[in-house]
Amino acid sequence: MTRDDIYSAIFEEYDNDRENAERRARALKRKLYDKDPRLEEIDSEIMQKGVELFRASVSGRDNAEQKEKFRLKINALNREKDYILKNMGYSLKALEPQYKCDICKDRGFIGSERCQCFNIRLADRLYDLSNIGPMLENENFDSFDYSRFSKEKGKDGISPYDNIMKIVMDAMGAIDYIDEKPLHMLFYGNSGLGKTFMCNCIAKSLIDRGYFVVYMSAYKLFSYMLRFRFGRETDKEAEAIKLLNECDLLVIDDLGTEGVNAGTIPELFDIINTRLLNNKSILISTNLSPRDISKTYSERIFSRITGDFSIYKFIGNDMRLK
Ligand SMILES: [Zn+2]
Repeated sequence: MTRDDIYSAIFEEYDNDRENAERRARALKRKLYDKDPRLEEIDSEIMQKGVELFRASVSGRDNAEQKEKFRLKINALNREKDYILKNMGYSLKALEPQYKCDICKDRGFIGSERCQCFNIRLADRLYDLSNIGPMLENENFDSFDYSRFSKEKGKDGISPYDNIMKIVMDAMGAIDYIDEKPLHMLFYGNSGLGKTFMCNCIAKSLIDRGYFVVYMSAYKLFSYMLRFRFGRETDKEAEAIKLLNECDLLVIDDLGTEGVNAGTIPELFDIINTRLLNNKSILISTNLSPRDISKTYSERIFSRITGDFSIYKFIGNDMRLK
């Protein structure tokens, strides 16, 4: 699945929505015409007067009085139509196609401009593909609770509060410049210090800007990869694996909890290396320190990460215990 695939899926959805709305409007019109044939007569008279009004307008002659007559006639016909429809329990608007978006009439574009509804549909799809859709509603930069971080300096010489503020500032900066420079961040530290929350904030922020984000726990990532290696993957897993390379940002959460073994090490190197070579963004969260990463995985992975990633340590007390 590439960005183009996502776009064409959205346009296909628009086509279906538009055709459905128009088909339903035609069917309802037919039903109401059968109920009261006067409606059909009115519609064809409105059409005819409309054509005459148009002709009069473009004739170039001074015929204001005549044009006004057509206009009044059309208004009268519409009033009659409205009256008949109301008696049947419908509004005048009911005969028009009921588009999901009145602004672009389910086209996604107004002229060459994207309609607002296009961005909403795009974000919805990106949320679905990211694997974290529902979580993001509650976890984003706006809902981040800085007051949970102590302002007292710890043994690192920095307070958890200042530390998290720096991480947020750097993350926001990386998001702003992601088109010029891929985001390569690694968050490490004990559980309960907000690493996953921060990953979600970054993911949401990018998705809302139309970037394609895929979030995977290390456990899920490696189980997909291993099944893929042995040709045992399901269609859904095969699709997910394609997404790992295609997406704009890959979030690998909880690295080190997947049950590291001889199989997972080259897989991890492959994913990281391929994305680095393609200038694609990666965000990793882990409970392992950089030294543990080197011991647990390999020197190669360690040097790839220390060479290309900005590394941030999360400090403080476990917030979940408070
Ligand atoms: Zn629209």
